[in-house]
Amino acid sequence: MADTRDLAVVTGASSGIGLELARQFASNGFDLILAADRDLGEAEQAVRADGGTVVQSLQADLSTRKGVDELYQAIKGAGRPVAALAANAGIGLGHAFLDQDLDDAIKVVDTNIVGSLALIHAVGQDMRSAGTGRILITSSIASMIPGTFQAVYNGSKAFLQSFSFALREELKDSGVTVTALLPGATETDFFHRADLDDTKVGSSKKDDAEMVAKTGFEALMKGEGDAVAGVKNKLQAAATRVMSDSQLAGMHRGMAEPGSAN
Ligand code: NAP
Repeated sequence: MADTRDLAVVTGASSGIGLELARQFASNGFDLILAADRDLGEAEQAVRADGGTVVQSLQADLSTRKGVDELYQAIKGAGRPVAALAANAGIGLGHAFLDQDLDDAIKVVDTNIVGSLALIHAVGQDMRSAGTGRILITSSIASMIPGTFQAVYNGSKAFLQSFSFALREELKDSGVTVTALLPGATETDFFHRADLDDTKVGSSKKDDAEMVAKTGFEALMKGEGDAVAGVKNKLQAAATRVMSDSQLAGMHRGMAEPGSAN
């Protein structure tokens, strides 16, 4: 019997925004391929409870070409076109750049930029050949602000934000849409993993990951260029347009400087 449900691929689906994106796809009738760097058993359970079918879940390091190739092979193995790709896997890294371990900083670039590019390149070509597909790239409000004490991370998101709109324009007559999701600070494992617990942004109240994912999913389905999740973040995004980069870098110091927690 032919598959009638669309297939979505979600990276970084083990927790946080990615898990909530997977749940959005599931409750809207998609089958799923899930990927993350740790076991996805709990994510699979959540997705199934929401009515989704997990075609496959894959534990792979998406900061490496090997990991991305494994995921792409799994996608090809499903024998079905990818209707939607959520390139969401990503990591942050707090502290001053010169105090960071260089390998950790490069891992941010490899995960957020290189891994995302490799996956989007492979899946995007298939979508273009098929003349249909939707790509969601998890960018960030951070893409609009020079990230003092999170310099590499914000730079990686600035890259993705620029890349997303350029790719969208390149594909405008192809049937493939590209949407950037810009969350603000969201309640996930992100800040703890980035060693930002003792910062103002790390210790402040954050947005709900389900709300963020719903915003991203709806924008993706409408084929919008980008979506900022939440009113507060929309105001912050508007403010970045009228501030200089120097002012923004100074503002970010107050949010992400080690020890700035209230
Ligand atoms: P999270 O809960 O830490 O989730 C990150 C996800 O990415 C996890 O599933 C993680 O899998 C996966 N991942 C990280 N490195 C990976 C690797 N090398 N290979 C495969 N998977 C990897 O944090 P989150 O907040 O949901 O982050 C999701 C996305 O949202 C990221 O791109 C982040 O930059 C972006 N974002 C977050 C915020 C925020 O405030 N939380 C704001 C703006 C944008 P494992 O657990 O298996 O490592």
